[in-house]
Order: sequence, then C-alpha cells, then structure tokens
Amino acid sequence: MNIPSFDLTGKVAVITGGTKGLGYGMARTLSHYGAKVVVASRTAGACAAVAAELRSEGREALGIPCDVTDNAQIKRLIHTTAEQLGGLDIMVCNAGIGRTNSALEFTEEEWDEVMDVNLRALFFCCQYAARVMAAQGRGGRIINISSAGGVVGARGVASYCASKGGVINLTRALALEWGKYDITVNAVCPGYVPTDINRAQLDNPKIRAAIENLTAFRRLGTVEEVAAPVLFLASDAASYITGHALLVDGGASAN
Ligand code: NAD
Repeated sequence: MNIPSFDLTGKVAVITGGTKGLGYGMARTLSHYGAKVVVASRTAGACAAVAAELRSEGREALGIPCDVTDNAQIKRLIHTTAEQLGGLDIMVCNAGIGRTNSALEFTEEEWDEVMDVNLRALFFCCQYAARVMAAQGRGGRIINISSAGGVVGARGVASYCASKGGVINLTRALALEWGKYDITVNAVCPGYVPTDINRAQLDNPKIRAAIENLTAFRRLGTVEEVAAPVLFLASDAASYITGHALLVDGGASAN
C-alpha cells in the first residue's frame, strides 16, 4: 500500500478571507505543507503583507485583493491565480461575516448582507474555481467554511445560521455534480475560536464561559485546530471524502 500523504508540494491553493483569523491559519498551514498560496481578501495591503510573510519563509505566494460579493473580482482572482501559478488545485471558501440581532428585528440589509457573503458569494467562488479545475483535468479540492451554527441553531444569529446551513447542503449538491471531474467538495464547521468575528461576544465573560462549558474540553478552539482539518481535506489523503461536513467544535454539538 501507499502511505497516505499530506504533502501539498506543487499544488495551488486560494484562500478567501486569508489575511486574518481562521483563514490566515489555513494560509500558513497549506503554505507550510508546500502549496503555492493565494491570499485573497478585500484589502490589497493585507493580502500583500501575508503573501510577503509566506514568501519570506521560502514559499511561493501571491496576494490578490478580492471582494467576494463581486463576481467580476472572483473571476479575476481565479484567472490571475491560474495564469500566474499554473492552475488551481485547492479552493478554500473561508470569507464570512456575522450580524447579530433578534429574529424579530432583523432588517433586510442585515439579512441580505450575510446571505450575500456567506452563501451567494461562496457559491460563485466554488463555481469559478470548479470551472478551472474541470478544464485543467487534474481534479481539485473545494473546502467551504461553514460553522457549527450551520448544524445547530443559535439565538440572535438567524441569518448566519441559515447561511451556514445552506453552505452544508450546497456542499453536498456540488460534491455530487463535480465528482466526475475528481473534484471533492467538503465543508468544515468550526465551533468557537476567538477571532474578530466573535470578539464582542467572547469579551463578555459570562457568554464565553457558557460557550466553553458546552464543549467536551471546556475551552474554545484554536486557529491551528481548524487549519488542520482543512489541510487534511486539501490533501491526497482525503481523496475518497466528498459531500461531507466536518464538525470541529470540541464536541459542543454532541450535547
Ligand atoms: P474574521 O472576521 O477574522 O475573518 C473573516 C475574513 O473574511 C476576513 O479576512 C475578512 O476580510 C473576510 N471577508 C469578509 N467579507 C469579505 C468579502 N466580502 N470579500 C472578501 N473577504 C471578505 O473571522 P474568522 O473567524 O476568521 O472567520 C472565517 C470563517 O470561519 C468565516 O466564514 C466564519 O463564519 C467561519 N467561522 C468562524 C468561527 C469562529 O469561531 N471564529 C466559527 C465558525 C465559523
């Protein structure tokens, strides 16, 4: 038998929202394992800075600014990547936002904003990436960052839960369509990891303790603990896994 490999040498990976938080950890990790990484978020300076950091570690990396709510920018991101780095093998759709409000008070804007970034834009990132992967004929890996909030409900974040639940079932549908191109499509569903997206919530010691207590380990997750399953799903070792939603929540949803 061949021993399963996690090496990504020669693979080209794009990470949306790769300049900070969980996406930054994924960019560092995939780069460490040999991938040529494209870091994409809205701020050109931040993309360039993370790419420069990866290059300073002897890796190939590019920063390409992209607002994922604009399809023209997604198209540019994918085509520039393929042109400059020789194709596209791994697409990590990580960019995401949350808005907190009571479901009775949610405005149209708050609803649309979240759905646009977390679900609509994610679909078009998958579509543009899969078109390139299908055309190049060497398979591919798409990893969509959903959330434990896409599996279980939570108070005050109705649009977020709806969008992340949508990501999971979208992932299944795409996996079935794109298996014929040897493209796997999977979702990773993190529990709480302290980043900018949940700073306000976690700054409240009572809320933080309640969240910690829901997990089997009585603690929040780390950026590394979410990057690791992304690495696994991006690797050859995960070649027979598709349409799966992997919970990385310290057991919180086992309650
Ligand atoms: P974060 O706020 O630190 O990072 C979000 C990233 O998305 C940033 O780089 C931001 O620039 C980018 N982004 C937002 N809107 C964008 C747009 N329109 N175009 C391009 N980029 C855009 O938060 P994070 O915790 O690192 O979140 C990363 C992903 O993980 C999100 O999809 C989030 O929903 C998901 N998630 C996070 C947690 C957690 O506890 N941190 C838990 C479950 C799921």
